Amino acid sequence: MEDTLGELSKLPAVTKDGTKVNLLANIEFPSEIPPAIHNGAVGIGLYRTEFLFLAADNEPAEQEQYETYVEAIRNLDGLPLTVRTLDLGADKLTHQMTLAGGDTHERNPFLGCRSIRLCLQNLPLFKTQLRAILRASTQGPVKIMFPLISNIMELRQAKMILNDVMEDLDEQGIEYARDIPIGIMVEVPSAALQARAFTREVDFFSIGTNDLIQYTVAVDRGNERIASLYSAAHPAVISLIKEIIRAGQRAKIDVSLCGEMAGEPEFTMLLLGLGLRCFSITPPAIPEIKRILRSVNIEQCQKVARRVSAFDSDREVLNYLRDELGKVV
Ligand code: PEP
Ligand code: MG
Repeated sequence: MEDTLGELSKLPAVTKDGTKVNLLANIEFPSEIPPAIHNGAVGIGLYRTEFLFLAADNEPAEQEQYETYVEAIRNLDGLPLTVRTLDLGADKLTHQMTLAGGDTHERNPFLGCRSIRLCLQNLPLFKTQLRAILRASTQGPVKIMFPLISNIMELRQAKMILNDVMEDLDEQGIEYARDIPIGIMVEVPSAALQARAFTREVDFFSIGTNDLIQYTVAVDRGNERIASLYSAAHPAVISLIKEIIRAGQRAKIDVSLCGEMAGEPEFTMLLLGLGLRCFSITPPAIPEIKRILRSVNIEQCQKVARRVSAFDSDREVLNYLRDELGKVV
């Protein structure tokens, strides 16, 4: 009998052949955690911390950030929290950045000083956030994730700054989780193509397809005029995802996918077939993705993935994936 979406939240996320899949949620604010858990999330795979900054008139102080992270950890009651460091810039400007004309300074803001680049150029901002996250890390299982890494030196620099912050905390006798896992969003093609090298320097990857697509096919993710060219089904995008997952498997590090694609039903079988075992999803989509994965087995998904690799256009890929989905749900 088909499970209703309400019942699904209590059922395990396993495929028909018993393969366990981790279903996590994407959030912007700690208040979204209880409904995400209600929908079946077993942790947060992407906490977009910049939204605290976007909602405020002034940059939130360390204590306010700390309290917000502690609230998130408490709401999770022992489930894991992946905190992404600030992903500001481009389309995400704080009130202060707008006042400073931040939206007009750059000719190509999505290729500009955004995300980790902005943090590396603004150390007080970055260090304050890292201190707040580290202080909160004593309260439950927390991971730190750096966004928009495009170059291994950027990652090394970010990790050095994290180390500096840890040393400051040590000197002040402030506790934090010393073994906190460090990961990156793989959302720039250069990082995807160099995934193997990155596995040697991080504990986990999270594939950010929202940006990975726009940078791979050179289509602004928010531009309506060319929206039809922005496609997760583009064979080049799929091939990058495949390589990132494979690099993670070889190095035995966790790989999740936290772009919108993780919550789009037509891609569930393909992603499982490519070896993905952790999806981080917008909370309302969790029950539907669980329903699909509970209706398929891995061998069937691997066949789908092999078939997809033979297509040359996103149209063919999508038509095929929709047909296959129609056969199982
Ligand atoms: C992504 O790029 O896929 C992602 C999850 O991050 P954001 O949408 O916040 O850029
Ligand atoms: Mg992104």
